[in-house]
Amino acid sequence: MEARAIRSDRIRVFKGAVAIVTGGASGIGLSLAKELANRGASVVIADKNIAEAQKAAAKIAEGGRSVVAVEVDVTDYASVEKNVREVFDAEGRLDYMFNNAGIGVCGLMKDFTIDDWRKVIDVNLMGVINGVQAVYPLMLDQGFGHIVNTSSMGGLVPFPLTGSYTASKYAVVGLSKSLRVEAMDGGVRVSVVCPGVVRTPLLKGKGDSVLLYDVPEDKVEQSWKRTFPADPDRFARSVLDQVGRNKAVIIVPAWWKILWWMERSSPTLMSMLMKKQFYDVAIKDLKDYIPGFKK
Ligand code: NAD
Repeated sequence: MEARAIRSDRIRVFKGAVAIVTGGASGIGLSLAKELANRGASVVIADKNIAEAQKAAAKIAEGGRSVVAVEVDVTDYASVEKNVREVFDAEGRLDYMFNNAGIGVCGLMKDFTIDDWRKVIDVNLMGVINGVQAVYPLMLDQGFGHIVNTSSMGGLVPFPLTGSYTASKYAVVGLSKSLRVEAMDGGVRVSVVCPGVVRTPLLKGKGDSVLLYDVPEDKVEQSWKRTFPADPDRFARSVLDQVGRNKAVIIVPAWWKILWWMERSSPTLMSMLMKKQFYDVAIKDLKDYIPGFKK
């Protein structure tokens, strides 16, 4: 086996760091990219939507910040690997890999097609795996680095109506926690971010993210409002503060931790709460649009 390179540097938090953010053209990824750049990092926005990624990069770069946009499809390992290799070759280091790109398909599991499942698993799980596989050996070689995977509160607590999303996000939590232990001796940090609800286009169920039913947009918005969506820029500041402290599981907004604690204390109680609270309150506005919905 080849010898690992001698460690010559340490991770930079965040001034002078080099960071890739997948899905950085919109929502949470965009706010993370902005905040990383504000804190002095060189940022690569890696997104399959190159037009939006370029717009975002140009906006962030105003004021002399270092940001570029690259077209990357996280479901395609070759595309992810190429981007990582090019960044590494150009910069000579890679401090952060934010595996953030993700989509949601919302609906009762009986209404899912096998393609709905594949789409979600491909982006949310394989996308993270591709990112990890592409950067982890390089980070071990350089002797430092931080992999930050975006899961969800849906990766800690079993929300109904999001079966494929929940499955993918639980897997991301497991992968991240396992790798965190394994990576410690190599100087590589691993964190998993579990957002509560954040005000981004994903909530609209448009584009890549899909709601399986034909629900008017105002009803969807009304429904999400009940969960007090967080502002994405505030969210990103809090996440980066905790990434800087190398926290293992990062839950933002913090009040969502109550649900995680409840799930670990009593999964039975949590299932009851999910049934009552979720069906009665969270999807109150959607029920009429779900064919065959029984309550
Ligand atoms: P968003 O829809 O605003 O942004 C997602 C970005 O990912 C888009 O720019 C899109 O082009 C990109 N993308 C999608 N598929 C891709 C692919 N195959 N390759 C490369 N880029 C791709 O969504 P968001 O709300 O900012 O979500 C970001 C992450 O946060 C996701 O992993 C999501 O599951 C997670 N999350 C979001 C919320 C929330 O409330 N918004 C809650 C929990 C978790």
